[in-house]
Amino acid sequence: MSAIYDCVVVGGGPSGATAATDLARAGHRVALLDRAGRIKPCGGAIPPKLIRDFAIPDHLIVGRVVAARMIAPSDAMVDMPVDRFGGDGFVGMVDRDTFDEWLRERAALAGAERRTGRFDRIERDTDGGAVVVYTAHADGAERRIATRCVIGADGARSRVARGTIAGADRMPCVFAYHEVIRSPVADDAAFDRRRCDVFYQAALSPDFYAWVFPHGDTASVGVGSAVKGFGLREAVARLRSRNHLAGCETIRSEGAPIPLRPLRKWDNGRDVLVTGDAAGVVAPASGEGIYYAMVAGQESARAVDLFLVTGKPRALAQARKRFMRAHGQVFWILGIMQYFWYHNDRRRERFVTMCDDRDVQRMLWPAYMNKQLVYANPLAYLRIFMKDMRYLLQTAGATR
Ligand SMILES: Cc1cc2nc3c(=O)[nH]c(=O)nc-3n(C[C@H](O)[C@H](O)[C@H](O)COP(=O)(O)OP(=O)(O)OC[C@H]3O[C@@H](n4cnc5c(N)ncnc54)[C@H](O)[C@@H]3O)c2cc1C
Repeated sequence: MSAIYDCVVVGGGPSGATAATDLARAGHRVALLDRAGRIKPCGGAIPPKLIRDFAIPDHLIVGRVVAARMIAPSDAMVDMPVDRFGGDGFVGMVDRDTFDEWLRERAALAGAERRTGRFDRIERDTDGGAVVVYTAHADGAERRIATRCVIGADGARSRVARGTIAGADRMPCVFAYHEVIRSPVADDAAFDRRRCDVFYQAALSPDFYAWVFPHGDTASVGVGSAVKGFGLREAVARLRSRNHLAGCETIRSEGAPIPLRPLRKWDNGRDVLVTGDAAGVVAPASGEGIYYAMVAGQESARAVDLFLVTGKPRALAQARKRFMRAHGQVFWILGIMQYFWYHNDRRRERFVTMCDDRDVQRMLWPAYMNKQLVYANPLAYLRIFMKDMRYLLQTAGATR
């Protein structure tokens, strides 16, 4: 079977749709295969840099958040308004059903051919070329697409990655569960349409965090944890009851894994490359994955473009290299932060106290909003370092 397609992108979430758009715009023949029907469980918070860099139109932003509230185990609260250090911007909230569909349609407008069905496996033709086998949604028939290469963007626990990349089946994950509820009619002290609440309390999550993210008329109330046997549903019920949200209508209840670490290899050294959650690119500590999935999608398209032009499989390795060069340091810092500060309630209490610090906020907001570490004031970094050390030493003393 000779290849008709240059690339088949499996998975039409933010990563796959972005990769398909860029490859189609570069003039390649692309098929974008996505499963029908399931809405990705997600808090839907995106930074302004994503909105700018990926030209997301206004109508997809269903909520504009201007403050984060961090809640400690003692119920002490620290409010972090965006305008203090994040400029006059906002954190955008998107609903993944409309957001993802819009991205897939943008890919189609760029020239990618959409296929709806479930990816099953990659077979090899007599020349060793890749053939993507999937079950079509319309009639349940098995279909085959011969292609020069495959991008696996089919999310955490990716079938493409597990079938082609060593170690992909052992990717560590947090399991996240959320309920999409109808927002209360009026804002009050416990719920504000312009504020994201983040709870650092062992009763709600022993190793990650819980959240209330407003989406205009709806809200996402959720929790993540990697601890086996921890009752995520019960934790969300406690959170809803605590924040007077128990009586709000529940629209959907759903969960999904969040990868904790990028895979060491994203390609099979031949003609398959994985991206987004399938490659494990979610920021530790925050669980932020949409922006990184789209950037990884861009890098994957770039690497595949080079592979298609040169025919050299080693071009595929460029995607991970370039991504990690840009974001590896931040992932490393966030990984350490998660390991240390989410360890027990005493440390979580100190972490929230630390978030009240102006120097910390001056560093955190631009890092989230614009994916920029602000190097403008080295003295501020020195102060943060000294304070961090003081908190660490106090904590170590207190937990001994
Ligand atoms: C509960 C929860 C809350 C989150 N909150 C946030 C947040 O607020 N902000 C943030 O930035 N990130 C958040 N994340 C992380 C974020 O959702 C992901 O990192 C992001 O969606 C990754 O995008 P992706 O395109 O790589 O994968 P996905 O969005 O998972 O897309 C994968 C696509 O592949 C398709 N697919 C899967 N298997 C197959 C198959 N066999 N055949 C065909 N198609 C297939 C799926 O239908 C889907 O369309 C959250 C995650 C969870 C679970």
